Amino acid sequence: MTAINNAESWDDLRLLRDEIKNMPTEVKEAYLQREQLLRSQLPPAVKNIIDWNITTHMAITEHALDDYEGLSPVWKRFVARASELPDLDREELVDFNSAHFYDALNEDPSYGTVDDDKNNALSRFLAHTQRAKEIAKTGDREAFLKEVGYAIHYLQDGGTPPHTEHGNYLQKLFRIPMHLAFETGEKHGATPRLDVLRANYTPEEIPFTSLEMLFHNTALYSVQPENHVTYLNVSSWADIQQRCYDRGVNVSKTYLDYILQYMPPEK
Ligand SMILES: [Zn+2]
Repeated sequence: MTAINNAESWDDLRLLRDEIKNMPTEVKEAYLQREQLLRSQLPPAVKNIIDWNITTHMAITEHALDDYEGLSPVWKRFVARASELPDLDREELVDFNSAHFYDALNEDPSYGTVDDDKNNALSRFLAHTQRAKEIAKTGDREAFLKEVGYAIHYLQDGGTPPHTEHGNYLQKLFRIPMHLAFETGEKHGATPRLDVLRANYTPEEIPFTSLEMLFHNTALYSVQPENHVTYLNVSSWADIQQRCYDRGVNVSKTYLDYILQYMPPEK
């Protein structure tokens, strides 16, 4: 209870989320109250998106790290937490979150303002990977793993159809309710079904070619016609979510195997 009331940031609080699952109702109520208070203090841009696919990023990253032997559980958890932070970080939410999108089938791979082709999920993925490699040389393991978590966030965004389907700013805006319904919606969304997605997961070997191709091929996968998300095919969403979840875990594994080779040793 004290830990809940002392949680200073959204991030602190989220660390406790799993721990309170089997606790008495009053503990859960204290958590929810604290959550509401912290939520009210968030900047508006962050507040609006706080319920987006946050937990899904964390679950996919943790799943991808399941069998990885070079990291302790605490470090795995750290990377998983970092992988959801770009959705809560003002710096990462530029221009109506356009940097979290990537138009897989278009020459101009984003939408919105002029610089968007330089600022989309792919360019963010590459930039954070580059930064991780630079930080690796300084030997700062924590800073390195944080960048890895940020990079993998964008790779995972590239694996979900609402982030990769063609559309300009207005079309994206228009689709927000469906985007949310598909990713986190209580009735048909992926987040409330993470246990099922995890249980029905199918591994697949994704070869590492280049960072660009790893990302681009994942984005292409998510916009295959069979993964098209509309209100007319709600009955197929569970299958689409499963394919995207599997791909997300599998491509995250490939990426982690690659980038963790650069990890500085623990001091
Ligand atoms: Zn995102």
